Amino acid sequence: MSSKQVSHLPVNDNSNGWSRILPQRTPKASLEGSQTTDWVVIGAGFAGLAAARRLAENRPDDKIILLDAGETGENASGRNSGFAIDLPHVVGSSMDELEGSHRYMALARAAIDYHETQIERHAIDCDWSQPGKYQTASSEQGVREMLEPFARELEALEEPFTWIDKADLDKRLGTSHFKAAVYTPGCRLLNPAALVRGLADTLPENVALYENTPVTGLETGARIRITTPAGEVSASQLILGVNAFADKFGFYQRRLLPFAANASLSRQLTAAERDAIGCEEIWGVTPANAFASITMRYTSDHRILIRNNIYYNPSMRESADYQAEIGRRHKRLFDERFPMLPEVNMEFTWTGFICLSQNGAPGFGKLADNVHTSVCQNAVGVTKGTAGGMLAADMACGVDNELIGYMQSLGEPNLLPIKPFLGLGVRARLAWELWKARKEV
Ligand SMILES: Cc1cc2nc3c(=O)[nH]c(=O)nc-3n(C[C@H](O)[C@H](O)[C@H](O)COP(=O)(O)OP(=O)(O)OC[C@H]3O[C@@H](n4cnc5c(N)ncnc54)[C@H](O)[C@@H]3O)c2cc1C
Repeated sequence: MSSKQVSHLPVNDNSNGWSRILPQRTPKASLEGSQTTDWVVIGAGFAGLAAARRLAENRPDDKIILLDAGETGENASGRNSGFAIDLPHVVGSSMDELEGSHRYMALARAAIDYHETQIERHAIDCDWSQPGKYQTASSEQGVREMLEPFARELEALEEPFTWIDKADLDKRLGTSHFKAAVYTPGCRLLNPAALVRGLADTLPENVALYENTPVTGLETGARIRITTPAGEVSASQLILGVNAFADKFGFYQRRLLPFAANASLSRQLTAAERDAIGCEEIWGVTPANAFASITMRYTSDHRILIRNNIYYNPSMRESADYQAEIGRRHKRLFDERFPMLPEVNMEFTWTGFICLSQNGAPGFGKLADNVHTSVCQNAVGVTKGTAGGMLAADMACGVDNELIGYMQSLGEPNLLPIKPFLGLGVRARLAWELWKARKEV
């Protein structure tokens, strides 16, 4: 038996632009008193929501309790750029890497199918669409060193893509910032906060979600005992979906790297401003180098999203002053790309916390006989977190699913150096990545 006090908890700064453009939602009640249950799931992001729903499907007669420290849609799952990506960012060209890519795509596509099923079944209004995405380069070096190899690797995978040259790209996106792009059709775009809310509000009847219920104590052993500020839960089995907070529960110690990522949403463009850029109705752009450069979207309600600035942030806190500075930086990046729209401001700027591992592996699988997990999605949690949550539930229920093996083949997060070498090493590595891709900003 082991027991752990959990004192470092998530904080919601209410800055998430995706939820602020949605109608107000009343959160589910927080937990009060004692509950006994078959299953408890901690964390209601994509991973925890998928785990809870899949448990309910696998075991319709079991009772499932889902606990979250905050409000639905205010976590990383509701704060991301809203790309459900079906392809690995970098493919690699050896047979092993190609096989790995096939497994990765099978997982991502299972997650996309799952989302599409829920969206259709429950009429979840989350702006889900399939415009594909443009993987762009803004320098000749980026075209040569990142885009051209990516195109060759897609060919080897027999995945459909279109090479878009500069003149065509300028017209499609309404900016002349990029040199070229590889367009792939499988990516879906969405308002992530709306999808998370929709998933949370349509959970099966045998799942009880408690919001604003931080877990402050966890005891594992023959039974799972959970303490919250006003209640406690005794459960037979636990699934942990708390992303970079997993080490605060005593798991994956020295294996997780909490990073902050920032995004801004512009105000809505007027009809005249839309005419000035004259681009496709909606589009999504991912950069050739995800660390250095910018993810952008043009949304169906005529806003432009800028996602930039990823940095190591073990405190998982960010100040309002720093976010205001980021907002000004995003406005400068916006102006460089859309000089014809000088009046358009960034209406919302926010920070979210993602979990990386040094080797890019997720935290997935069995941690004890009655403890399973899906954490550390390495910044592609819309798909990987969802697949991980479903498969953690299948694994815990003994369901035979070949995707469990695919998930396991992604490996386990590496052990990291001890502090203070860890912080120094991570920052030096990030600085090197930024320097290498300095022409890609
Ligand atoms: C700005 C930004 C852009 C991104 N863009 C993309 C993108 O376009 N596509 C993509 O796939 N991914 C993207 N990501 C990454 C993606 O958002 C994450 O990988 C994903 O949301 C992780 O999902 P999760 O369920 O594992 O974790 P989370 O969404 O972080 O959920 C974990 C939950 O655990 C809860 N929790 C933690 N501690 C406790 C506790 N003690 N008690 C109770 N509950 C607790 C938290 O409140 C939280 O709700 C982006 C992230 C950011 C920040």
